[in-house]
Amino acid sequence: MPQQKREKVIHYLPSSCLLLLMLMCGQVHFAYAAATIDDIRMWTAPDHTRLVLDLSQKVQYNLFRLHNPERIVIDIKNTRMNAKASHLKLPDPVLRSIRYGKQNKGTTRIVLDVKDGVSPRSFLLKKAHGKPNRLVIDLIPKTKKVIKTAKTNHDDIIIAVDAGHGGEDPGAIGPNKVYEKTITLGIAKELAKLINAQPGMKAILVRTGDYFVKLGDRVKKVRNEGADMMISIHADAVQQRYVKGASVYTLSESGATPDRVAAALAAKENASDFMGGALPEQQVSDPFIRNILGDMAKRDGLDSSEMFANILLKQLKAHFPIKYNKPKHARFAVLTALEIPSVLVEVDYISNPERERLLTTKKHQHRIAKAMFAASKTYFTRFGMLKPVKPKVHTVHRGESLWSIAKQYGVTVSSIRKLNGLKQQTLKVGQRLRLPQS
Ligand SMILES: [Zn+2]
Repeated sequence: MPQQKREKVIHYLPSSCLLLLMLMCGQVHFAYAAATIDDIRMWTAPDHTRLVLDLSQKVQYNLFRLHNPERIVIDIKNTRMNAKASHLKLPDPVLRSIRYGKQNKGTTRIVLDVKDGVSPRSFLLKKAHGKPNRLVIDLIPKTKKVIKTAKTNHDDIIIAVDAGHGGEDPGAIGPNKVYEKTITLGIAKELAKLINAQPGMKAILVRTGDYFVKLGDRVKKVRNEGADMMISIHADAVQQRYVKGASVYTLSESGATPDRVAAALAAKENASDFMGGALPEQQVSDPFIRNILGDMAKRDGLDSSEMFANILLKQLKAHFPIKYNKPKHARFAVLTALEIPSVLVEVDYISNPERERLLTTKKHQHRIAKAMFAASKTYFTRFGMLKPVKPKVHTVHRGESLWSIAKQYGVTVSSIRKLNGLKQQTLKVGQRLRLPQS
């Protein structure tokens, strides 16, 4: 289309001064300055699918629905498609397919074939923080009746595990293009596995896949699930590639000596709402966090966070390099679930190529998760909330053999022998045998 227009203009060029006049009025400029759609990305979250279009400049668009079959149509004025949609993993739970073509007057029409009952929500994001202008289209499926799955045990200690960033927001990016969002999810899943294997404890993953969750929604989820603790996992990046080590942060007022480094980090983490694509009015603001901090009734949460941060830092220090010897404090939006101990952990620096490589390995992710898990156990045991698990013991009766006892408890003979250091097969009546966890 712009090609056609150009030919037309060139055709008139020798005949008159019209072009010059048009140039002066800015009309020709307008005709040439078609915006381009430079990339299309898609993120499938449990409760919606998000499409993001990168735009070379601000656009005007029109979104409407058509039925039978269900479609959502987006007309973007004066725009050229420079992106392909063929890399998108379709169909997904709400979006069947995506098509696009030219309408008249330079309008690009995008047609989304969606499942029944899907409703759209769309908004533009201005260029900022190194991101271009973007058009965000959320496809929200008909809300299914939520069947409340009863918590396995109401007395369980619930730990919210928050994998930082996700979807549109990659977080920090390493020199070998490893994304922070990938590392944080890997560690979060490892941690959840360890927690769920512990009797009396249960994990909630705030984010389960590669999609964005607003900071405010993360806090809401932690509260709604009645979590007793919140661990937010991150991996920072700095200019200097040699920098490495973990650090632990809690929410706090800046206090007597404001920590500029921590404040800058908090500002970076809080910008996640912009990166991921929260509506401008839903992005966190500093006054919002200040208000929360002003609520002194929640002071207990701050104290318990500090206590847990110290335990966690000690645990991390035993296994990994540490960046700061003490917990640091700043206004992190994601830590505003103040009633419970809430910490943000920067597990390491993804900007360090050696650490970046290490962070991608399952083994290292598991080691970090193990340290976090151990710290949470120490915390809850110290406060008497987690009872140490009593090992199972069996007293040998007449006529019993190692084989029959193993069968009774669903464990192997060799595991009983190993646990009790048995050299021979014969058992004495009244002998006490420790049993492995089946
Ligand atoms: Zn982060």
